[in-house]
Amino acid sequence: MPVDTARFPLTQHQNPATPEARAAIVAAPIFGKVFTDHMARATWSHDAGWADRGIVPLAPLPIHPGATVLHYAQEVFEGLKAYRWADGSIHLFRPEKNAARLAASADRVALPALPEQDFLASVEALVVADQAWVPDAAGASLYLRPFVFGSEPNLLVEPSGTVEYVVTASPVKAYLTSGAQGVSIWVPQGQSRAFEGGTGEAKTGGNYAASLLPTSQAHEHGCDQVLFLDAKHGRYIEEFGSMNVMAVTRDGTVITPRLSGTILRGITRLSIIELLRAEGREVIERDIDIAELVDGAASGDIAEVFACGTAAVVSPVARLVSQTFDVTLGDGMAGPVTAGVRDRLVGIHYGTVEDTLGWMRRVV
Ligand SMILES: *Cc1c(COP(=O)(O)O)cnc(C)c1O
Repeated sequence: MPVDTARFPLTQHQNPATPEARAAIVAAPIFGKVFTDHMARATWSHDAGWADRGIVPLAPLPIHPGATVLHYAQEVFEGLKAYRWADGSIHLFRPEKNAARLAASADRVALPALPEQDFLASVEALVVADQAWVPDAAGASLYLRPFVFGSEPNLLVEPSGTVEYVVTASPVKAYLTSGAQGVSIWVPQGQSRAFEGGTGEAKTGGNYAASLLPTSQAHEHGCDQVLFLDAKHGRYIEEFGSMNVMAVTRDGTVITPRLSGTILRGITRLSIIELLRAEGREVIERDIDIAELVDGAASGDIAEVFACGTAAVVSPVARLVSQTFDVTLGDGMAGPVTAGVRDRLVGIHYGTVEDTLGWMRRVV
């Protein structure tokens, strides 16, 4: 279905970045720290529903100190990228999946769902307005961050009667290049990010506060990221702080934790599963005991482990570390399955590999 970007009319920034300043930022962006000239926004109220749609100059949001988001973390977000192809055109990757997930996340924390057509129109209208900010360097892209939060001043623990929806855009460079050195992973014991019946499946801000301390501890242990175990048994791998996890067994089968309700339903995870299965590779979604990975890394039964998510796409894991183990995977570089799936997915993003599954959506 075509998207009606006119739903989000543009109010042009009166004092945008100069072309020189913009070019300097786009050439060397720092992930998540720089933003384009505009943002998309809309508001919701219990009585009027969604209104005030528009693309407006990026500016701080006035927020009442009593807003529910500040006290009870009533917030959900998304992350997706716009990619510039060699011919100059700009494309989104499966944005309707982000629209559906935002609605599902919102439902879990009693926020109103934004209609899919508003989600797609807001994102596309923002990309059109700030298209000069979409980088063209290899692996670079425009990272879009839609989010929704409760803005009503109300200290009662109840759903906000007013809500803000905002989308920001940030030029980002490639996280990793093909064949790159893998990352080191800390496996914390006694700290989980989610539990059955909780909010682990929702992309809601509160989940990430819980991951900050273990991630700092990972850094103290010389690791880059955390791999969380399940809260009930402290035994089954779930996911990284903001990426899903996959492993490749000795016979080339790919295994990944099943969606138990505590794991974020990654769109990269889903796409990799679909891509590998379409190529005839077996992918099994099941419980994976951390001991299977640790023993398997030592014996060779586990050949590769990688992280997947929108920000870094696919990152090979070189090492798994905890208070009780320290093992290396292969030679610490991306293995053939990891590198292969990464190259095919990145190729689809940039239009250099045929998009046989119809995932890319042209915006400009
Ligand atoms: C966003 C996110 C992912 C990855 O999801 P993608 O849709 O692939 O970007 C995985 N885990 C967590 C906790 C996340 O927040």
